[in-house]
Amino acid sequence: MNICRTKQQLKLAVREAKKQQQSIGFVPTMGFLHEGHASLLREAKADNDVVVLSIFVNPMQFGPNEDLDRYPRDEERDIALAASCGVDIVFLPTTEEMYKRKPLTTIKVEEVTNRLCGASRPGHFDGVGLVVNKLFNIVLPDRAYFGMKDAQQVAVIEQMVQDLDINVEIVPCPIIREPDGLALSSRNVYLSAKHRAEAATLSQSLNKLHHKLSADGNMSADECITFIKDEILTNTTGEIDYVELLQYPSLTVINGQASLSKSVENQRFIVAVAVKFGTTRLIDNALFQVSEVIERV
Ligand code: AMP
Repeated sequence: MNICRTKQQLKLAVREAKKQQQSIGFVPTMGFLHEGHASLLREAKADNDVVVLSIFVNPMQFGPNEDLDRYPRDEERDIALAASCGVDIVFLPTTEEMYKRKPLTTIKVEEVTNRLCGASRPGHFDGVGLVVNKLFNIVLPDRAYFGMKDAQQVAVIEQMVQDLDINVEIVPCPIIREPDGLALSSRNVYLSAKHRAEAATLSQSLNKLHHKLSADGNMSADECITFIKDEILTNTTGEIDYVELLQYPSLTVINGQASLSKSVENQRFIVAVAVKFGTTRLIDNALFQVSEVIERV
């Protein structure tokens, strides 16, 4: 496995792969890898000749009061996990290497960033857009793999790739969960035992909603939101940041009172939640397709 710490080293490795007509699959991460990341790496390995993993905690996507300084890191363990997933190249730049000078260019994807984490974390997706753009320009991947755990991120990046004609195929990958349903996240290590037990409510409430929707397609968006909020308030001590039901991938608002099967006919919608447990903010979501019945996708 080739470990590159500078853009120059990485570009040389990429050039070598391209010379041999090898396809490149790319998985950008912030490290402290878990099975969620591993699933992206395995999918990239199955589809491509060469897999590039980047590990970079990007300061530009953290707000002033967020967890940049305490974001968990374990380079040695990450490198071992990468090797076990068949990664060919790991890109591990420092902040100074990524941002040699203060960037004066901004990437702002409008509309898709208006709600959910875009609203709760102002500037977050500008930081994501900028770093993903830079990484795409350095790695020149044929395909890039992103988890649906961050469904809004997938929508933002797909929009950006389309708007800027970036030559990469975006591959969304399913959410990997703990046995009790909690979506894997590097941030789960912050949770106290009590909060860890409560946190499973996020996915469990989405599952319960799925069952209710399969039985009653006439539920409205407002009823779904109230159901999830009640579940979270009853079963946890967490503080709700948001519970929203929106069209996906446009992330536009749906009439709150109308029956979902009529108002989003033949389309997809997302139910997305963000809840703070102490200082740890967790997100989760479920995606639904409205056809004859409402099914989870
Ligand atoms: P992060 O290191 O948190 O920035 O995540 C890097 C990539 O891994 C992103 O595309 C995430 O959506 C994806 N990812 C994180 N957690 C999961 C998970 N539980 N299941 C699937 N993908 C995930």
